[in-house]
Order: sequence, then C-alpha cells, then structure tokens
Amino acid sequence: MLIHELNPSDCVDVLSRNHLARLGCSRYDQPYIVPILFSFDLERHCLYAFSTIGQKIAWMRENPKVCVEVEEIGDKNHWLTVLVIGRYDEIQQDPEQADARTRAGHLLQQRREWWLPGAARVESVEHPDVVLYRIQIDRMTGRRAARDRD
Ligand SMILES: Cc1cc2nc3c(=O)[nH]c(=O)nc-3n(C[C@H](O)[C@H](O)[C@H](O)COP(=O)(O)OP(=O)(O)OC[C@H]3O[C@@H](n4cnc5c(N)ncnc54)[C@H](O)[C@@H]3O)c2cc1C
Repeated sequence: MLIHELNPSDCVDVLSRNHLARLGCSRYDQPYIVPILFSFDLERHCLYAFSTIGQKIAWMRENPKVCVEVEEIGDKNHWLTVLVIGRYDEIQQDPEQADARTRAGHLLQQRREWWLPGAARVESVEHPDVVLYRIQIDRMTGRRAARDRD
C-alpha cells in the first residue's frame, strides 16, 4: 500500500463534497471527539456547523483550538482523509455578523433537514438553545492510500 499526500486543491475537493466530520476539541488536557455535519465555505476558508449548547460548545468556548477530520474510507487499502487544524468562532446574532450568518445559512440549507441532528432535542432537555459557528481553517493536510498496483 502506498500513502500519498494530497495537495491543497485535493483537500478542498474533499471538504466540498463531504458533510460528515469528526470534531475534536479539548479542555484541561482531556480530548473530546463527536461526529458533526458541516458545510465548507471555499471563499472564506472555513467550515460552518450548527449545534445545541452542550459539552462541545462549552469546551470550545473555553478553548477554541480544534481539529476536524473528514474521511472517505472504501476499505483498509483505499481511503482518503483530510485533517483541519483550526479555531472555533461562534456566529453571533449582532448586525456585524449578519454576512457570516447569511453565508452559513445559505450553505447549510443546501442539505435537506440541515438542522438535524445539530438541533435534535436530547431527551432530558426541554428547550435547547442552539448556536451557529464556524471553524476558521488555519492548516489542513490530506492523505490517500491505494494498493501499489492501483
Ligand atoms: C451522523 C451524525 C451527525 C451529527 N451532526 C451533528 C451536528 O451537525 N451538530 C451537532 O451539534 N451534533 C451532531 N451530532 C450529534 C453529536 O455527535 C453529539 O452527540 C451532540 O452534538 C451532543 O454533543 P455535546 O457535546 O453537546 O454533548 P452533551 O449533550 O452535552 O452531552 C455530553 C455527554 O454525552 C456524551 N455524548 C455526547 N454525544 C455523544 C455521542 N454522539 N455518542 C456517545 N456519547 C455522547 C459525552 O461523552 C458526554 O458525557 C451528530 C451525530 C451523528 C451520529
């Protein structure tokens, strides 16, 4: 098996055609990883996502440094992964953030039922608060594996 590095344009393609990611954040040296859905904004070089307020939002508010993994895995010999190192940035309701809200809304709404499961109700919580946020991309790398004969 050979592992190839993806160039930045390949990484962008992977982020553009996928919506499911693993988001890693940490607090007090404790990592925490959850699956999330996202939309990629090529022009602003960021990912948008939507969430109820829970542990990951509380942790990212405290420590905005995050890692996002996006994958296309055929089998153990054929896979492609992109890692994004970036920063959590909450999109507020104030007028200065209106442009970011519009762009995020436009991109997220291209997915059917885009608010699910980000705004799904957890059994024990009656009226969950929701937040829209972006991950500003600082750095990304990608790798692709293929059998030698492919
Ligand atoms: C395909 C898919 C897409 C998803 N998309 C989104 C999305 O776009 N936005 C979004 O906010 N959420 C999404 N989720 C749900 C997400 O993975 C989290 O479960 C959810 O956001 C709650 O995270 P939290 O940190 O707010 O947990 P909280 O509700 O605060 O709960 C924290 C506690 O629950 C545990 N916990 C939290 N999530 C999980 C889990 N998935 N599995 C096991 N234990 C868990 C933690 O270990 C911790 O103990 C998605 C899940 C899947 C499977």
